[in-house]
Amino acid sequence: MLIVQKYGGTSVANTERIKAVARRVVRTADEGHRVVVVVSAMAGETDNLIRLAHEVSPNPGEREMDLLLSSGERVTTALTAMAVQALGKKAIALTGRQMGIITEPVHTKARIERIEADRAKRALDEGYIVVVAGFQGITESDEVTTLGRGGSDLTAVAIAAALKADLCEIYTDVDGVYTTDPNIVPEARKLDKISYEEMLELASLGAKVLQTRSVEFAMKYNVPVVVRSSFNDNPGTLVTKEDKEMEKVVVSGVAYDKNQSKITIKAVPDRPGIAARLFKAIADANIVVDMIVQNVSSDGRATDISFTVAKTDSNKALSITEAIARELGASGVDLREDIAKVSIVGVGMRTHSGVAAKMFETLARHGINIMAISTSEIKVSCLIEAKYTELAVRVLHDAFELAKAEGEK
Ligand code: ADP
Ligand code: ASP
Ligand code: MG
Repeated sequence: MLIVQKYGGTSVANTERIKAVARRVVRTADEGHRVVVVVSAMAGETDNLIRLAHEVSPNPGEREMDLLLSSGERVTTALTAMAVQALGKKAIALTGRQMGIITEPVHTKARIERIEADRAKRALDEGYIVVVAGFQGITESDEVTTLGRGGSDLTAVAIAAALKADLCEIYTDVDGVYTTDPNIVPEARKLDKISYEEMLELASLGAKVLQTRSVEFAMKYNVPVVVRSSFNDNPGTLVTKEDKEMEKVVVSGVAYDKNQSKITIKAVPDRPGIAARLFKAIADANIVVDMIVQNVSSDGRATDISFTVAKTDSNKALSITEAIARELGASGVDLREDIAKVSIVGVGMRTHSGVAAKMFETLARHGINIMAISTSEIKVSCLIEAKYTELAVRVLHDAFELAKAEGEK
């Protein structure tokens, strides 16, 4: 088989762990498989580099930021290849450019356009274990880009798709995908398998165990993904196509996201075209808006519009909104950072009613106020005060009996 193995930051946090990764890689090769390894930067390294950038500049340029951030994965890629070589196997370390990962010309969150994998294929044919730097790519005009936080997952899945690998293994610091973050709810249960769709919702709603775009990519190209621990040999979680069994489960997971901010533009005139004007300007700045709430005031003439964006975009979104507020004669703009989004996800929601009501009741019973709600076919999300996040996740996990397997409920 051809197997792509991705090792996250905690799995390559120091040289001892890198040597442990090398042993696992060699074991896989010795079982007769061809192996491509994708590594993240050492745990904390990307955050550290971002901190350094902000120490030298209040507003670091995105092009140089990408060059800086890509250095973290260069280090672990070279070290991992050396550790594999030290075990007597042929290994070659490749940067994003050398792997032929071509992205769109957007800095800090580029999408992969295609992979020119000839060199990697040749190396595999010659018996090399190929070790690739995650999270980075190159544009047509030779600029280094990065793929957004957690982007090494995407590197791995995209390479698996390009090489038509039989399996993409994501090695991390937990045993698989759980009903919610096991570091917050110790009773959380590991799932044997989860559908691409549910995983996509969980990821986009904050479950950082897999990066959202990596799941999108896996779903599109039907890449079988297994999430498992690099610290043991326990079977992980298979992310795969939905089956009949999965539909029986109404809610399969709870996710939370503290990386959002809420911006409110106050008392804008209540007439057609206002929302279009505001959200076009935000979209033109490459900012993704998540939740939107609009309240018509009692006199019917003015309205408040609130929306949420990623915290990393909040300053940019705020200055755009302030400019538009002046143009429209709004009474002011307000930014709140102390908010969080909690969500429940499950394909079974399509065929079961009362799920949202149960969520609202549960939050109300614990005195947690809901600031905004959004729903889709398979999820319900509520915006709440950040200080209630852990409490909300725990009580929802409990209310939907997620610690128990289907048969035990
Ligand atoms: P890596 O560095 O290996 O990429 P991440 O920190 O990005 O690892 O992702 C793993 C973390 O995701 C876990 O330590 C856990 O805290 C968090 N997490 C959030 N939700 C879930 C979930 N539903 N199942 C498993 N882990 C989750
Ligand atoms: N090192 C990058 C990050 O911390 C990419 C990754 O770990 O997947 O976001
Ligand atoms: Mg990650």
